[in-house]
Amino acid sequence: MEANVSGMLSAIFVKAEARRLGFSACGLAPAGPVDPAHVAFFRDWLARGCQAGMAYLERHGDLRADPRRLMDGCRTVVSVALNYRPAESAPDGCLQLSWYAYGKDYHDVVRAKLQSLLSALQAVCPALRGRACCDTAPVLERYWAWRCGVGWLGRHTQVVVPRAGSAFFLGELLLDVPADRYDVPPREGCGSCMRCVESCPTHALSGQGLDARRCLSYLTIEHKGEIPEEAAAKMFPYFYGCDRCLRACPHLRFAPPAAEPAFSPLPGILALSEEDWLRLDVEQYRQLFRGSAVKRAKYEGLKRNLEAIRKSREPR
Ligand code: SF4
Ligand code: SF4
Repeated sequence: MEANVSGMLSAIFVKAEARRLGFSACGLAPAGPVDPAHVAFFRDWLARGCQAGMAYLERHGDLRADPRRLMDGCRTVVSVALNYRPAESAPDGCLQLSWYAYGKDYHDVVRAKLQSLLSALQAVCPALRGRACCDTAPVLERYWAWRCGVGWLGRHTQVVVPRAGSAFFLGELLLDVPADRYDVPPREGCGSCMRCVESCPTHALSGQGLDARRCLSYLTIEHKGEIPEEAAAKMFPYFYGCDRCLRACPHLRFAPPAAEPAFSPLPGILALSEEDWLRLDVEQYRQLFRGSAVKRAKYEGLKRNLEAIRKSREPR
């Protein structure tokens, strides 16, 4: 397979390498300004305060609006998706973590794979320069996943990979060479389906995007301070994150389990009973979540969530 066609990168080669590295989907788009309607929607979303305490989203608006500002000479955006749907979940009725938190920290896994992809491209195009991004740069990653043809933006505001759902980590590679072929954005595929919206217990989803102030995923992971009582009452069974809208999507039905061993459930994580979780001490927490993204919430954050659930389940 020719990787370098008259100074242009072969899109087929990039996708074959991405597949070899385990990515489930990969697409390419020419680097350029983000569609103005999308930028306007994002600005309006911020102005409505829907980002809640995620103040970092308010910064670097100019960089977010055009990835060419993130890397000199950027010509191509490659978007990739890595499946994290676990082969097994905590049984119904038990306390649950969001699927994405079952395994090792995805930042490390996706970044390493993107670096491997970049190295594979540089092996055939030695002059090529690139930048790997996985929550490490102000990139509108869902927009670029759509723009690169990876999936459409679903009503739950996540990217839906056709016939595979949304249990995917996203990443981007910015490259300073053009590709011989670019993907086209897919048509919106939700149609009249409203399952994700209807599954949300806190009404965080509307036609106007996600309102993080109401979202249990935000409140149990990013939010500092106490969880409002009204939200806490809707948490069970999730004490870290929330997958209701993701799991409601009919496209998830066709998704195979993740092939990436790093996303297998961490040892012991599915064996804990409700009582075990509620009694979790700091040493158990350290052992259980070594190398996991849950470490970001810190022990105190996890205990806060568990305490909120415990209180909400006390008889009144
Ligand atoms: S993650 Fe949970 S709370 Fe947040 S929008 Fe989805 S269903 Fe609603
Ligand atoms: S549940 Fe339905 S509306 Fe929501 S993202 Fe999936 S297809 Fe779209």
